[in-house]
Amino acid sequence: MVTESVVNNKTITNWMSESATTVSAECDYLTQLDSAIGDGDHGLNMRRGFDSVTKALAGQDDSLPPGRLLIVAGKTLVSTVGGASGPLWGTALRRAGRSLGDSEEFEAEELARALEAALEGVVELGAATQGDKTMVDALGPAVDGLNHAVEAERPIAVALTAAAEAAEEGMRATIPMQARKGRASYLGERSVGHQDPGATSTALILRALEAAVASEA
Ligand code: ADP
Ligand code: MG
Repeated sequence: MVTESVVNNKTITNWMSESATTVSAECDYLTQLDSAIGDGDHGLNMRRGFDSVTKALAGQDDSLPPGRLLIVAGKTLVSTVGGASGPLWGTALRRAGRSLGDSEEFEAEELARALEAALEGVVELGAATQGDKTMVDALGPAVDGLNHAVEAERPIAVALTAAAEAAEEGMRATIPMQARKGRASYLGERSVGHQDPGATSTALILRALEAAVASEA
């Protein structure tokens, strides 16, 4: 019998440290994307934020449930990142954490609901919809991809690969878009032809989640 891998507090810690590693490795690239259509700080914001999250989580009690860890991570992002991405990702992780509640383990369905709650938080705070050239263009398709895979009863690792691929496709689809939210919207038509930095880091964070769950299997 194939046992379905479950997600626990270790998965969350791994997800956050994988995210820190990948946004740090891609810091220059993210900053370069933000220099084209923003103020050139996105890589630095994300690196600072996720490095702080990794430190904050290292100081937590081992018995803290996954949802609580995500709430700590979200609060840390809000308090350490000045740019738009701090409150947006901070809200996303806090909402995901609240959705998971206090259970110690969960499976693909709960994870899909948590990611959906994260997206709802981002949309409530930033009022962006798909097509506005923001992180929502990567997170929205990731949530849809995860939901479809879960409905098709795919194993969690496969479902997360689908989510990460959908995020990357959404990220690439931001290139021809004109920005309607955030700093890039000030550029109007000049924002066309550039990939959105926030959609790019979102795709990296989804790949980090895929890797964190795969490392448990
Ligand atoms: P800032 O724009 O304050 O410098 P960052 O550079 O860290 O913050 O983040 C920029 C990214 O934030 C954008 O590429 C976009 O994806 C995302 N973003 C900005 N405004 C919004 C919004 N209202 N809703 C969703 N995402 C947004
Ligand atoms: Mg910026």
